[in-house]
Amino acid sequence: MSKVHNETGLRILVVEDEESFVDALKVGLAREGFDVSVARDGLEAVDVFQSRPFDVVLLDLMLPKMSGLDVCRAIRLASTVPIIIVSAKGEEVDMVLMLEIGADDYVTKPYRLRELVARIRAVLRRHEATAPAVPSESVVEHGPLRLDVDARRCFLNGKEVKLRKKEFALMMLMLENPGRVLTRDVLIDRVWGSDYVGDTKTLDVHIKRLRTLIEEDPKNPAYITTVRGVGYRLEVAKPAGE
Ligand code: CA
Repeated sequence: MSKVHNETGLRILVVEDEESFVDALKVGLAREGFDVSVARDGLEAVDVFQSRPFDVVLLDLMLPKMSGLDVCRAIRLASTVPIIIVSAKGEEVDMVLMLEIGADDYVTKPYRLRELVARIRAVLRRHEATAPAVPSESVVEHGPLRLDVDARRCFLNGKEVKLRKKEFALMMLMLENPGRVLTRDVLIDRVWGSDYVGDTKTLDVHIKRLRTLIEEDPKNPAYITTVRGVGYRLEVAKPAGE
């Protein structure tokens, strides 16, 4: 197998019932490096959202079966994922209501793809700036991985994996933010801060070593995946074959 890394783009859920928009978005967003999933009505949107993690949601207001507003409410019960509402020109839009139910931004059809992508990147940046969580528990667990924060020990399926200081810090940050893209800047800032010297490869070298320690196939990682051009993510889904 020649695949080097399990690279993915940012995962976007496009909720849209107009075929012409769906087609244009699929092509345009994929070209921008996004992994695009599509739901064509409100119920499907909620189903798809629950089935796997997404980094951002593009949500049309007028949808068959369940309105965009209700989809937004349903997603907000479970997630802080950035949501961009899409409305048609002339549609009555209650901005206050939309913000109240947790939408992050909105665009009006027809829009230019370039404008849409800029909005998406902006909400992602804002979202990134607001969190990621700082560990508060003394034990952090995710799937087969467990960290004893106070004792600085890492376990994989109950077996100890010896980590160096920075590797442990990286692992902790990822376990505290499962399924979430952590950008290179955030990882470097949180783990190294002003200690970060040398070239930008330092982070990759550490990720590579972590993979050799915890991945069954480090060249085709199931836990720590690369998000193309952005950073890394700890996968929440079970690796295939389990
Ligand atoms: Ca519609």
